[in-house]
Amino acid sequence: MFEKILLAVDGSEHALHAAAIAGNLARSEGSGSLRVVFVYEAVPEYLGEPNAQALIDAHLKRAEAVLAQALKRIGEIPGSVETEMLAGSPAEIILASASAEGSDLIVMGSRGLGRLSGLLLGSHSQKVVSHATCPVLIVR
Ligand code: ATP
Ligand code: MG
Repeated sequence: MFEKILLAVDGSEHALHAAAIAGNLARSEGSGSLRVVFVYEAVPEYLGEPNAQALIDAHLKRAEAVLAQALKRIGEIPGSVETEMLAGSPAEIILASASAEGSDLIVMGSRGLGRLSGLLLGSHSQKVVSHATCPVLIVR
């Protein structure tokens, strides 16, 4: 049923838990692909060089570490696994990427790295679940 899964990760323990569930789901569903997306903050043009490039490099280094950690949690799956690092606002990018790729399920954590621990849902999971055109699995 879930042939193309998009997993969103931000380096939080919640997202890693979501990665483990996405891996289990991809195995039980025999999904064709699992795409793991990390979104980093776009670097403003006014920074100029070499600052802009240094900041991009730092974002990409962090993205690589977060994605590698997520891949470990996912484990082996029958279909393909791809990773993607995209710049912008997380919820908007996750929604746009799911539409562009025709994802049939988005998996994400209920919370992320935000500090407001009283909230049940973070702002990005709230926005994605409110606007997605495919099913969304919010993992607690
Ligand atoms: P807030 O960011 O609103 O202060 P929060 O960090 O607790 O609160 P969210 O950011 O909504 O909550 O995180 C919920 C889930 O959304 C995460 O577990 C992760 O799956 C996904 N997510 C959040 N930020 C990103 C990101 N930068 N890239 C990819 N996925 C993300
Ligand atoms: Mg957050």
